Amino acid sequence: MTNLKHAIALNGPEARALEQHRQDAGAGEELAGALAQIVGAQNVATDFDTLIRYGRDCLPYAKYLYRSGDLPGTLPAAVVRPANTQEMASIVKLTRERGARVIPVGTCSGVLGGAIPLCREISLDTSRMDKIVKIDEVNRTVTVQAGMNGGDFEQALNEKGWTAGHYPQSINISTVGGWAACRGGGQASSRFGKIEDIVIGLTIVLPDGEVLAIAPQARRAVGPSVKDIFIGSEGTLGIVTELTLRIWAVPQATEDLVIAFPDVGAATSCARDMMQAELRPAIVRIYDAEETASRTSGLDVFQSLPVMMFLSFSGLRPLVAAEKSVGLEIVARHGGKEAPTGPFRDWRESRYVSASQSWTDKGYFMDTVEVTLPWSTLVNGYERMAERVRAVSPDAHFGAHWSHVYPDGACQYMTFRLPPMPDAEALPLHAAIWDALQEVALDCGGTISHHHGVGVFRGKWMRREHGVALDVLQALKDALDPGNLFNPGKMGLRQADGAVRINP
Ligand SMILES: Cc1cc2nc3c(=O)[nH]c(=O)nc-3n(C[C@H](O)[C@H](O)[C@H](O)COP(=O)(O)OP(=O)(O)OC[C@H]3O[C@@H](n4cnc5c(N)ncnc54)[C@H](O)[C@@H]3O)c2cc1C
Repeated sequence: MTNLKHAIALNGPEARALEQHRQDAGAGEELAGALAQIVGAQNVATDFDTLIRYGRDCLPYAKYLYRSGDLPGTLPAAVVRPANTQEMASIVKLTRERGARVIPVGTCSGVLGGAIPLCREISLDTSRMDKIVKIDEVNRTVTVQAGMNGGDFEQALNEKGWTAGHYPQSINISTVGGWAACRGGGQASSRFGKIEDIVIGLTIVLPDGEVLAIAPQARRAVGPSVKDIFIGSEGTLGIVTELTLRIWAVPQATEDLVIAFPDVGAATSCARDMMQAELRPAIVRIYDAEETASRTSGLDVFQSLPVMMFLSFSGLRPLVAAEKSVGLEIVARHGGKEAPTGPFRDWRESRYVSASQSWTDKGYFMDTVEVTLPWSTLVNGYERMAERVRAVSPDAHFGAHWSHVYPDGACQYMTFRLPPMPDAEALPLHAAIWDALQEVALDCGGTISHHHGVGVFRGKWMRREHGVALDVLQALKDALDPGNLFNPGKMGLRQADGAVRINP
């Protein structure tokens, strides 16, 4: 039921959504009643106050719209919270029979709009599926329900001496299922890999309501990897209900180093040499001069060597000592100098906190774009991207860091910020900056996303990214979900009729 007193105090977006809600009132009530038979009435919501919370995620563009009185898409028709795989499968069978569209939802921390309803889908919230099912200490695996909060999951493992090695900045505001759905990356990815390297088993509810279980295996050779079809599929092909992940012992020792370098070229070449020498640092973070300056005030060494690297080795004590010694030799070859470790300590304390909302609250247009570039074009790509942003808007702030490094390339994570101005002026600049950054990444032989995924906002670059492979993805989607009922219009795949279009 809509709370009228609340409605009067509503600001713009809520008022518009409320009107939409009033017009649709009753339309989904019969279906909601049938869903309640499966999960219990207390786990089905159609009230306005709940629906509006599911009308957007952390997509910055949606936050700007919301700030000025608009919604990015639609409200969901209902929010349903199943407790396990069986309930999820029963829901999907029912919604399919009725031709109703659905979106699986974790914690809505996605930054590309993947969880935003575009045509009154039903949001299937996984938050009741929040338990560790089993820890297998011999095979070093953990099986967990998809809706478990990431921070709770890691803490429960740590208490038993284990870690899953996946630490996204959003760990406390995201789910384990959401990590796999978006093909995410954590802060120690250079050592443990991205989520696709960590997840080895999945249980999935398919669009026809069948349950597909992919048993965990160290390795297999039985055709293409079916698991990898679903990792990164962002709720378009199936709903992940359980996952099995690799686990490791909590490290015995950790050595954190801060290094100052003369420029981005020297620092990134150093990281490349370390990875190609088969060192396995847990953390490598290189900040360009702009980002270094904001983290090193009062530290003289960064006046002459303005690019900072954090380097952390962890694991068994003798291995850490050996890796540190080889790592420092490589650092010296590239003109790097050890610096005070204060900035690393500060980062560790705030590593799961983001400043982006406070900029948005102050009226700025802040966004982040992460791409992967091969080492051969990385420095040139960075310089071209910085130039292109300045060409779009000389007033824009632009900074970059490289925090996931591999033998063959690295993730370049860029932050840009436009000063407060009317939306009508800012949104075209915001779109032009996105276009520039994605285009240069592709021109440099890179990829448009390292770990945030595609959602709805990045769909328009999927054809250039994939070429014919996008037709393969669409064919898979059509085969598994002929009614286009699972999260339609996301990942550059076909839109549903009458759906709201975002960043077309
Ligand atoms: C401040 C901040 C920092 C971030 N830092 C990182 C980072 O370091 N690394 C990183 O990788 N990402 C990061 N992100 C992005 C985001 O947190 C991740 O993409 C995360 O994995 C999303 O999880 P979620 O549970 O919130 O998913 P949601 O946002 O709820 O959903 C995201 C997408 O996944 C689908 N989905 C969710 N659950 C399931 C499921 N069980 N089955 C099938 N599909 C599902 C949804 O339909 C949607 O398309 C950050 C976001 C914020 C706001």
